[in-house]
Parts: sequence; C-alpha cells; structure tokens
Amino acid sequence: MTACKPFTSKTTEEVMKACRNECFYCLKRLNQNNTIIDHTNNNKRERCSNDEKYAVASCKECSKKKGDMTAYEFQDKVLQVAPRCQEFTRDGYRCKKPVMERRRRNHSEFVCPKDKQTR
Ligand SMILES: [Zn+2]
Ligand SMILES: [Zn+2]
Repeated sequence: MTACKPFTSKTTEEVMKACRNECFYCLKRLNQNNTIIDHTNNNKRERCSNDEKYAVASCKECSKKKGDMTAYEFQDKVLQVAPRCQEFTRDGYRCKKPVMERRRRNHSEFVCPKDKQTR
C-alpha cells in the first residue's frame, strides 16, 4: 500500500457504519478486527487523497487484493461484479447499487441506476 496519511475526518466506526458494517467490495460482515479503511481512488495515479468521500470499509483480504487499483477496477477486473455506486444516500449510507455504464472513456466512472432514471 501507498504511504498516505490516515483519514482524519471520519472515524473507522463512522466509515464502517456508512457501509452498513459490510465490506464495500465483497459484502462480508465486518468487525473492528477484520476491517481496513480503504481508498476507492488510486493514490498512486491520482495523488494521495484522504478525502472522506474515498474512504470505504473493506475487509482485510479485499483491501490487500485491491492494492493500488481503484474500487471500480478491483470490482470489475478481480471480483468480476458490477461496481457499486459510491455515492452517499440522503441518510448517510453508501448507495452500493450496482452501476454499469462508463460515463467517460478511460476514466472509471459509472452511473448509478438511480441517477439514470431521473435524467
Ligand atoms: Zn471484502
Ligand atoms: Zn447510487
């Protein structure tokens, strides 16, 4: 892993809660012992950003396997599942709906099915 400063704006508990105490990637049940706060962005490519919007709760195995991939790359290429939406719902949880479409070429951004309906 890259040597980024730890997240300071949110506690591990808050990040876990936003992910409903499930690994953002494999949806495994999390507890304090098997949880890592993972970056959904790629800190090597996109600079070290500790913005809380990039902080998701991950199990140790997923975080290790993910390495320097983005969340989208990891879910798409390694887990081979539709990447989950990283937006926050109004009540403060990660949306996690499977998203399918790339918004921009060469940039791993996907559109939430919820957003698609309203546009
Ligand atoms: Zn996991
Ligand atoms: Zn969404």
